Amino acid sequence: MLLKNKLQEIKTLLNSNNILTCEEECYCYAEDASNLIKPTAKPDLVVFAETVDDVRNILKYSYEHEIPVISRGAGTNMVGSCVCDTGGIVLNFSKMNKILEIDSVNMTAKVQPGVVLGDLKAAAEKEGLFFPPDPSNYSVSTIGGAIAQSSGGALGFKYGTIKDYVVSLKVVVSDGRLMTLGADTSKDSVGYHLAQLMVGSEGTLGVIVEATLKLIPKPDEIKAISAYYDDIACCMNAVNAVIAGRVAPAAIDFMDNNAIKAVEDYTKAGLNTNKECLLLISIDGQKSSVEYQTDMVKEILEKSNATEIRISQNPDEYDLIWNARRSSFAAAARLAPDVVTDDIIVPKQNLAQMANICKSIAEKYNLKMCLIGHAGDGNLHPQIALNLENEAEFKNCADARAEMYKEVIGLGGTISAEHGVGLEKKDYIKNVVDSTALEYMIMIKRIFDPKNILNPGKIFNIDN
Ligand SMILES: Cc1cc2nc3c(=O)[nH]c(=O)nc-3n(C[C@H](O)[C@H](O)[C@H](O)COP(=O)(O)OP(=O)(O)OC[C@H]3O[C@@H](n4cnc5c(N)ncnc54)[C@H](O)[C@@H]3O)c2cc1C
Repeated sequence: MLLKNKLQEIKTLLNSNNILTCEEECYCYAEDASNLIKPTAKPDLVVFAETVDDVRNILKYSYEHEIPVISRGAGTNMVGSCVCDTGGIVLNFSKMNKILEIDSVNMTAKVQPGVVLGDLKAAAEKEGLFFPPDPSNYSVSTIGGAIAQSSGGALGFKYGTIKDYVVSLKVVVSDGRLMTLGADTSKDSVGYHLAQLMVGSEGTLGVIVEATLKLIPKPDEIKAISAYYDDIACCMNAVNAVIAGRVAPAAIDFMDNNAIKAVEDYTKAGLNTNKECLLLISIDGQKSSVEYQTDMVKEILEKSNATEIRISQNPDEYDLIWNARRSSFAAAARLAPDVVTDDIIVPKQNLAQMANICKSIAEKYNLKMCLIGHAGDGNLHPQIALNLENEAEFKNCADARAEMYKEVIGLGGTISAEHGVGLEKKDYIKNVVDSTALEYMIMIKRIFDPKNILNPGKIFNIDN
């Protein structure tokens, strides 16, 4: 109830009447796609910003009155980065969703933060250009959220993650000042790269109000190769053999038998549910190069004991198999009332070992787990289907996650590759981030946000 008396004042700060105050409506913006973290408060207000000035005015006011501000894109992050546990204002960007410019000469796009990744991809493609970052839910997740969460996706293997596409940003800092970070040039070596500091900052350092993003030429052709294996070690050896074969696939993804079954049941995409695992590889580029690379990969997979190899013959076949892979979260969600998706990464040579450890941990704690991942990156997404209201299952899931992180760290990996920290993983950050580096992160937070109003309590507690 912090803000009700200030409502009239806040309304005068905006050009329009884009505010929700009704408790039930505000509650809808208290959660995100993390099933583990439940809100302990609800926003006092939800503001749908339409202009940079709206954002600046809200932040100036919030700074003066020390009101927490949680920026929000589509609310699809999986770690509780948008979960409300402080009250305050949710700053929603769904109305700042314009693609301001596609510049074919400089190969950049200038966008507002609420632009959906899929819409930018489609707009770029019309100009023969390509915006590669592809979290599986790119049809809903927004540029602001993806930058703030340092999102990746399957194509990260060849094309990197969204951090590799940030050219410059316009950011409003906590006291309402507007900063431009970086230059709209193809290179920039002037001072600290503060735009990169915003990547993965989870709305804790500033509010992104505009982004200039790099585009690349659109590949002429793309093919999907799927190969089935009878055991995980063989499958992961095949991944390393493809990488060692000096082919450059666009993506190398993996699904275990539980995931194959769940996805096939949901999508009817024609997956072979009798096999232990599926390797899914994308090859893109110019037509002749795609044919050459596809043959090379097929040969490597045959030598690595693949039991069945299928190659997509047209875009529909490509979409069928990749849409099936991208729906793995929805498929796992059908197995139990809840699903908890994790995101871990190990050096590639340890991937088979880590995948087997995940399976043993699931067995030990009697949890139903579908294992998928961006195998080419060493990145696994264990998806645990369970009933979170069942105390025993909840505890088992928590214990299993803690054990998994310990093993990941032991194998030289880390606890998040592309989903971020949020509230869900902040207790573990000290186990993976160097203690001096963590001190510096906290100092940076204090400099950018001296009153701790920007998404407070996410990533770490500043009084740690
Ligand atoms: C089914 C499913 C599949 C997914 N698959 C993948 C995947 O393959 N790879 C992957 O990396 N992720 C994946 N994710 C996670 C999700 O896609 C990313 O975290 C996503 O990019 C977040 O976008 P969003 O618009 O929903 O952001 P939100 O969840 O709304 O926000 C995320 C963070 O960004 C901050 N934020 C939002 N807008 C701004 C802004 N304008 N300025 C500053 N901070 C801001 C928020 O405060 C929050 O901290 C998946 C999620 C789901 C539900």
